Amino acid sequence: MPERVPSGTASPSGTVRRPDPPVKGTTDHSTARTLALVTTALVVAGCSAPDDKTPVDLIFTGGTIAIVDDEFTLAETLVVSDGRVVAVGDESLLDAYQATRTVDLDGRLVLPGFNDTHTHIRGRADRHIELGGITSLSEIDALVRAKVDQLGEGEWITGYGWSEDELAEGRRPLRDDLDAAAPLNPVILTRAGGHSAVANSLALQLAGVDESTPQPEGGVIETDADGRLNGVIRERQSIVSRLVPEATPDELRESHVTMLRNQLALGITSLIQAGETPEGFDRWEDIYEEFGSELPRATIQIRWAGPERLEEFGLTTGDGGHRLRVGAIKVLVDGGFTGPAAYTIEPYKGQAEYRGLLNLPEDELRSLVMSANALGWQLGFHAIGDAAIELTVQAFVEALSTYPRSDHRHYLNHFTVTPPEATLDLMAEHDIAIAQQPNFTWTLEGRYVDHLEGDRLAHNNPVGIPMKHGIFMALGSDILPIDPKIGLYAAVTRKGMSGEVYGPDERISIQEAIRGYTANGAWLTFEEEIKGTLEPGMLADLVVLSENILETDPERILQVDVDLTAVEGVILYERPNAR
Ligand SMILES: [Zn+2]
Repeated sequence: MPERVPSGTASPSGTVRRPDPPVKGTTDHSTARTLALVTTALVVAGCSAPDDKTPVDLIFTGGTIAIVDDEFTLAETLVVSDGRVVAVGDESLLDAYQATRTVDLDGRLVLPGFNDTHTHIRGRADRHIELGGITSLSEIDALVRAKVDQLGEGEWITGYGWSEDELAEGRRPLRDDLDAAAPLNPVILTRAGGHSAVANSLALQLAGVDESTPQPEGGVIETDADGRLNGVIRERQSIVSRLVPEATPDELRESHVTMLRNQLALGITSLIQAGETPEGFDRWEDIYEEFGSELPRATIQIRWAGPERLEEFGLTTGDGGHRLRVGAIKVLVDGGFTGPAAYTIEPYKGQAEYRGLLNLPEDELRSLVMSANALGWQLGFHAIGDAAIELTVQAFVEALSTYPRSDHRHYLNHFTVTPPEATLDLMAEHDIAIAQQPNFTWTLEGRYVDHLEGDRLAHNNPVGIPMKHGIFMALGSDILPIDPKIGLYAAVTRKGMSGEVYGPDERISIQEAIRGYTANGAWLTFEEEIKGTLEPGMLADLVVLSENILETDPERILQVDVDLTAVEGVILYERPNAR
């Protein structure tokens, strides 16, 4: 029989939300229970008549299967057929089932597939350079020079994903660096997080931005000590990027599909796209019509576009299928710390006045929350600073008091600066959840150290304490970078990239972290009845990890490989040279 492990100390009842009424289109859970009973019967029959094994598609055996049910049950053998988990238990299942393919785990770990609850997948133009994970300015220089060669003189070059915290030189790329690499091409490279960008001289010149340009509202054009532009623009980089020519639909579609396929190599079988326009949703629909069965499942958050536009869109939260569906309404309430522009209650460290920025007036926020809630949408709003979180929660509560909803599942995207206790209490009381990014503590450490201090720094991107408060939390990456391993590692260790530990009481167990990255994500999209665990009857979305991270030293988590990823029982990724 499967052994049972406690799910760790940080396992408040509030983090495990079992079935509210099933949503339309989902499988009734009683089907799953029935299947489990049938399985037991087959095991008995199988023992007495080994030749009569039931043919199935896949068996995983010889390692650890984490079912991620309420008790975090572990098993040894998993049986999959027709896209679903047929049985999970001990090795005696091998007497009852014969698979087309049997995967010998050799001690490895099977988990439900990861669900990245906050991501941004998009097609890229040919002019685009991917800068995530780049570790030196000289590498950026080489990539820009190669792009000049590829595109020729005069063409715009764009890029995304650099971070000074990951660069060996320990500083940001600046205008002069880009001028050296591309004197005859306009260049603009956006920082990871998207809250600032650096442009070269030609790009600034074409945009008409110089030392006499007034500071844009809500943004900053940086100058160096001598008052000369250094090329960095914060929050309002559109004053330059507006000039970048649009990519062709074909080049965007192709790279969009490639990026979706790349998620499978990270063990991601479901994702939530954190914001698209209604037209953007149409592009996803077009891609999923053609490639849906080869890609991770996607839920698309729709950016607030006013009640009329949304009515015209015609779809609402939960519409679509289990491959592609409509998620919550997305609104950016404040900025972020890479800018920095998160809206905080206390001023930033070392700045007597600056508290970041609200992206829209408070009364506008209140009225659109009221309207979207009344229209029946789920809400999933970006709120990073404690002041933005407090305001958003108040607006949600106000709307829910006026138009009560029994199973709204409203949530906040991010949650970096811990709000006052009263706000946490309100969230627990009104079932307002969090789509959290524990990896921010690791990746954005440098930004938090610059702008926060004391408790605000220690409790950045809190995980453990909100969970203990009974607030439901699902995990995701916000592409900083996209890799569930980093989120799991940071949630368990609370370490920044320097190795410093922030707020040890915010740590959660590896079991809770895995639940946050699997089952809890399914709840966020009203799909917990069909995916997110490996209980019999559930969709066979799963990942095989090269090591059992339930048992290894947490420091090993970052080194673990994804060996295999399956969606609905179909193996869509296998690591070359995996066991
Ligand atoms: Zn985001």
